Amino acid sequence: VGLVVALTGGIGSGKTTVADRLAELGAGVIDTDEISRALTAHDGAALEPITAAFGPDIRLADGTLDRARLRRIVFSDPTARARLESILHPLIEAAMLERLAALETDYAVLVIPLLFETGQDRHADRVLVVDVPEAVQIARVMQRSGLSESEVRRIIDSQIPRRERNTRADDLIDNSGTCVDLEPRLQELHAIYTRIAARR
Ligand code: ATP
Repeated sequence: VGLVVALTGGIGSGKTTVADRLAELGAGVIDTDEISRALTAHDGAALEPITAAFGPDIRLADGTLDRARLRRIVFSDPTARARLESILHPLIEAAMLERLAALETDYAVLVIPLLFETGQDRHADRVLVVDVPEAVQIARVMQRSGLSESEVRRIIDSQIPRRERNTRADDLIDNSGTCVDLEPRLQELHAIYTRIAARR
């Protein structure tokens, strides 16, 4: 690929919505959440190291990961969270780079929710941030997940502040309107990325 764009944004900002549409327009999209799920699925490469770190109780009777239990543990224990991340992040990064090397599109979009928090912006030529006001973010996440407002706020507060994320963006896309409202900016970004990729 001629250009690597990292796509990020807060929880529920619309990263997947934007990435899916850019894929339809012709971008090669790599979603690190999807990689993470594959790594921790049945036969995933992260399953054994996670079991070694957290004990056999972290697996259900059928051998799959007890995701609810793991979530509870890392939510309440920062050391456990750091341990899980030290297992997952290198594996996610390696899988992402492997997929990136195999792409044949003009440009690539890497969807990385905690892009700045994990320092992975170093893999990207450009950073695209999906931006929504916090009230919109909270309403959309509550509707999708059934989490309470305070639970959503807690997650938002654990992420990089909106202002700092936006300041560090090369490109911004405002997702406070409808999906139809996104379209002109999406077309524009696709044209810009295709043009830059062709020049390189
Ligand atoms: P996460 O951080 O949880 O992975 P995300 O940033 O990928 O989320 P999406 O999954 O794209 O965000 O969007 C979050 C929710 O908001 C979804 O239920 C999606 O359908 C909805 N949504 C996204 N964009 C809009 C929009 N412009 N108008 C209305 N609903 C939207």
